[in-house]
Amino acid sequence: MRVVKNRALVAGGAGFLGSHLCDRLIEQGLEVFCLDNLLSGRFQNIQHLVGNPKFSFIEHDVCDPLPEMEVDEVWNLACPASPPRYQANPVHTMMTSVVGTRNLLDVARTSRARFFQASTSEVYGDPEMHPQHEGYRGCVNTVGPRACYDEGKRAAEALCFDYHRCFGVEIRVVRIFNTYGPRMDPDDGRVVSNFIVKALNGQPLEIYGDGEQTRSFCYVDDLIAGFLAFMRSDTAGTGPINLGNPGEFTIRELAELVLEYGGVDTAINCLPAAPDDPQRRRPDISLAKGELGWEPAIPLHGGLLRTFEYFRTAMAQPARKAH
Ligand code: NAD
Ligand code: UDP
Repeated sequence: MRVVKNRALVAGGAGFLGSHLCDRLIEQGLEVFCLDNLLSGRFQNIQHLVGNPKFSFIEHDVCDPLPEMEVDEVWNLACPASPPRYQANPVHTMMTSVVGTRNLLDVARTSRARFFQASTSEVYGDPEMHPQHEGYRGCVNTVGPRACYDEGKRAAEALCFDYHRCFGVEIRVVRIFNTYGPRMDPDDGRVVSNFIVKALNGQPLEIYGDGEQTRSFCYVDDLIAGFLAFMRSDTAGTGPINLGNPGEFTIRELAELVLEYGGVDTAINCLPAAPDDPQRRRPDISLAKGELGWEPAIPLHGGLLRTFEYFRTAMAQPARKAH
């Protein structure tokens, strides 16, 4: 029988999603090893956990050989998620998903730990099927600027399933759709943080393309609840399973809502479209509803207000000392 030590390794734990996950795991009484190279994450996201005897931070790149450790859960969230960040060093992005995932799967294999893979709706590419369910195999441009991320994540899924079939590693693969909330990096270029930061600075919002492309936006607390429900389930299987909010909005609608909820009156400008930008995206979450009884509870209105509040406070504070 597996001895339960309640130790979790969270790779990418200093990032937006990873830091919220570290908080929840510590609340649940686990000992958390947060491993991160701080490429797109920020030490300030986890600063409040430093000094907690259940928390350790390891500054490390998952592409490099990992320190030896025995854990019960390995959570792989290490990878920049915003298009400008993952395209800045595309070879490293691909290696993070392939070599990094293999290194982390080896930790799970030797520890006999359960392995969580943060995959993405990007595995569906620019989808011809709408909404996207898990059986859809996607439409990715393998040679475009998004391929380092999309194909890296697809390869990571394949590695997870091969470690499962060949070595019996217990895996949980989640396909995450656009998620937003407090602790997004104001500079990382994702649409919700860009729009809110610009609105608070009284600058025009910038839409890439005509703004008719759609996304579905999930509030971070809903997503983390889904992560935990899936990781702890012994009956829901390996996935892949979609987690996201099925509410679908055009980017122009999002821009208008941000201005309305923020009480801001500034212009909305259109810039050239980003290459290979997916045109429609909405998760079919029937599987998560059926297997986990999970669905998002926080509508866009409430989530955006909380995110505005976070950025308002963060922007009013002097910059914190870097780690
Ligand atoms: P993020 O950029 O805030 O967090 C990623 C974290 O991984 C950062 O702390 C970064 O420093 C770290 N990291 C990156 N490369 C690393 C490496 N080689 N070694 C060690 N650490 C490394 O992004 P996020 O939104 O928190 O996303 C977390 C995970 O969820 C990512 O794997 C992302 O692909 C996935 N995801 C997120 C979303 C979303 O909407 N937020 C959507 C789909 C998938
Ligand atoms: N986008 C935009 N303005 C911005 C940032 C993004 O119009 O300031 C668009 C982007 O082209 C895409 C959508 O918003 O169509 C979502 O972009 P994001 O980078 O948040 O995530 P993606 O889903 O593309 O990975």
